[in-house]
Parts: sequence; structure tokens; C-alpha cells
Amino acid sequence: MTNFELGDQLISHDTDATVAAYSEIANGGAERCGCADCRNFILQRVNAYPQDFLNLLSRLGIDVSKEGEAFHYGPANDDEQLYGGWFYFVGTLIEAGNRAKIERAAQSGFRYWFSNNFPRPPGCFGKDVAAVEFVTRIPWEHEQSP
Ligand SMILES: [Zn+2]
Repeated sequence: MTNFELGDQLISHDTDATVAAYSEIANGGAERCGCADCRNFILQRVNAYPQDFLNLLSRLGIDVSKEGEAFHYGPANDDEQLYGGWFYFVGTLIEAGNRAKIERAAQSGFRYWFSNNFPRPPGCFGKDVAAVEFVTRIPWEHEQSP
């Protein structure tokens, strides 16, 4: 396990175990759901995450195409839709801090934080599981209107 700090949050995580867990998962939550909101997320997945977040996912051993779940909050403005979701990883949240509260309340931009409050993850993650949650904005590209 390796410790990693994000603002006032502290996690311990196992990159190799996380990579192994993702190798047992076929696809992301959006593919498993398949509704119009999720199909739009799949089309826009490449635009959903900024580089620093992609770097974090890679450091944790997370496969960016296999989010635990993505969900559509609704329109963010005329051009963009607000989505949230999370990725599981093998590890524990040691210090929860206030980042989750602060980032959740923020009105704009891409945000992410560590969490230990989520639906039961796939068994391949083992018993020590935490998640990195995100909120993002993407265009609506799917032919069916939101
Ligand atoms: Zn869906």
C-alpha cells in the first residue's frame, strides 16, 4: 500500500492490485447501463476528464474506460450536460477531510475527491476499496435529446 495526499484527504492504495481488479472487469458502468444518458457519456468519455485527473487515475492503476458508474445530473448550461460518477480502487480512505464537501458544493469546472461512500463494488476489488468521485461537464452528442 502507498499513501497519497490530495488536499486534506489521505488515502492508502495498491496500484498493482487495482490494475489486476480492472483486468477482470469487461467495461464501464455506462456500457452496463446503456440508457441514452450513459450512451452520451460513452461518446464523450474522451472529453470528460482533464489531464491531471487522467494522471491520477493512471497512478492509482484505474482504467479510465471502466468507471464504476456515471450518471447524468441534467443540463449545466446551453451547451453542456453535468455528469457525475466514480472509479473504484484497491485502498482505504485514511483522512476524509473536507474536500468532498467543498468540491461537491463548487459550481463550476471539473472536480474530484476521494470517497468511501458508494454502492457495493465488484468482488474483484477485495475488501479494502475506496473510490475517486468526479463531476464533469460534457456536450450532448447522442442523437436522442437529453
Ligand atoms: Zn444509464
